[in-house]
Amino acid sequence: MQDPRTQAIASTIRVVPNFPKPGIMFQDITTLLLNPPVFKDTIDLFVERYTGKGISVVAGVEARGFIFGPPIALAIGAKFIPLRKPNKLPGEVMSEEYELEYGADCLEMHVGAVQAGERALVVDDLVATGGTLCAAIALLGDCKKLRIHVEGLRETDERAGAEVVECACVIELPELKGRERLNGKPLYILCMRL
Ligand code: AMP
Repeated sequence: MQDPRTQAIASTIRVVPNFPKPGIMFQDITTLLLNPPVFKDTIDLFVERYTGKGISVVAGVEARGFIFGPPIALAIGAKFIPLRKPNKLPGEVMSEEYELEYGADCLEMHVGAVQAGERALVVDDLVATGGTLCAAIALLGDCKKLRIHVEGLRETDERAGAEVVECACVIELPELKGRERLNGKPLYILCMRL
């Protein structure tokens, strides 16, 4: 059964048609942030799920993963690492490209931010096609391992080697089947938008 708090969470997210381009129903979480009790419920639901699970790293995806990720990390006693768009991080980075509807994008993470074997949670506001989360999973550890194995590259050159325990988002757009692109990684969401 769904937690009753998720209803209020869903109702505070504003839907803006045709933003940022025609045909997109933009799910605007800034209206959720205007409501402190609902924002707190949102964080609490994640914290309740991940407390005591041995997660040492919360990785937030730029940009809205930076809103939800840090309070979850603080509450469960994990470190927070930002997964950023290209050329934003000043140190040595690992990169992972991913496909967008039109073109490609890339996520980057500081080398050394995560150690091999750490248990990681990936956080973003929303999953649509799943490309962004898939890149985050690859950057932290797991699916890139397969590719590196197949291509015969050295594992230590390319990946952090963490174990992604789960991905967590506030919203899922299930019609876009992003869940299927996560290479079997579990995805936890608070509300669905059809
Ligand atoms: P995807 O990689 O297709 O799963 O897209 C997920 C990323 O794009 C997340 O970081 C979202 O913030 C953003 N995004 C995609 N579609 C929407 C939407 N309809 N409303 C708000 N954000 C979106």
